[in-house]
Amino acid sequence: MKCRLCGAKAVIQMRQHKLALCKEHFLDWLPVQVERAIQKYRMVSYQERILVAVSGGKDSLSLWDLLHRLGYQADGLHIYTGIDGGRAYASESLQRVERFAAARDLKLHLVNIAEETGYTIPELAARTQRGRGKPCSVCGMIKRHVMNRVARREGYDVLATGHNLDDEVAVLFGNTLSWSVEYLLRQGPVLPAEGGLVRKVKPLCRIYERETAAYAFLRGIDYLREDCPFSSGATSIFYKQLWSQLEHERPGAKLSFYLSFLEARRAGLFAAPETIRAALHPCPSCGQPTSAPDLCAYCRLLERVKAPGAPR
Ligand code: SF4
Ligand code: ZN
Ligand code: ZN
Repeated sequence: MKCRLCGAKAVIQMRQHKLALCKEHFLDWLPVQVERAIQKYRMVSYQERILVAVSGGKDSLSLWDLLHRLGYQADGLHIYTGIDGGRAYASESLQRVERFAAARDLKLHLVNIAEETGYTIPELAARTQRGRGKPCSVCGMIKRHVMNRVARREGYDVLATGHNLDDEVAVLFGNTLSWSVEYLLRQGPVLPAEGGLVRKVKPLCRIYERETAAYAFLRGIDYLREDCPFSSGATSIFYKQLWSQLEHERPGAKLSFYLSFLEARRAGLFAAPETIRAALHPCPSCGQPTSAPDLCAYCRLLERVKAPGAPR
């Protein structure tokens, strides 16, 4: 297999694009694809400040690297969850992120949930009703809250996450199976700013997971290869496996599913009644936007944890 551009040995074949590239040309090609997506969906301008959510995995570190190389003003935010799983998952993640930022002299914001609340995320989940089983719902809610809070407090224009095409297809597939119109309406490359929520963008939404993995590897990015210990058995992983089978039989199936969805939505297929999204108002305790009638989900969680009689 040879590079289509120079004839040297190819390191990656992308059947969906009918393209094989050598290391040098792949490392040139991927940033161009990301820049095209940023421009096409009007995610962010060079004058705006971006806060990148970085977990320490291949996607978020590749995204930070790419935005930085493309000339965007991108700082990082790492949320220290305290998730251990018997293999120091949280501290291993933090180390990768800190090393990455230090090596490139990039600004990194750190939020330690245990320092902020007195408990790690698994402890918070275990001490509340929401924590039955895995801590994922508590984890997701806290991360969304912290990302928006830090972005607003520090004056960032936009929040960027490292969701790749495989992530987007898995979520889209789940939402389609249940025809969750509210979620379908909110899924896409850009979630505009609204009522105190900072704009969110996904610059890797058209990049296959194997391409971000290849990019991180070939770029020499030291990322954490292990997934979160709580991710095993997740429905999204099952959907990803299904879609990988489909992609194997029909190269380009994932990209086509995602892009066709965006086009259908643009054409008004999922136009929702005005009432589908509840109005946002500032939480009376922390000031963050919420659609809940009183306190936001984060403040309610902290109240429950601190209430006398909360499980220990
Ligand atoms: Fe949080 Fe891990 Fe669940 Fe992801 S898999 S939401 S990181 S607990
Ligand atoms: Zn080449
Ligand atoms: Zn609140």
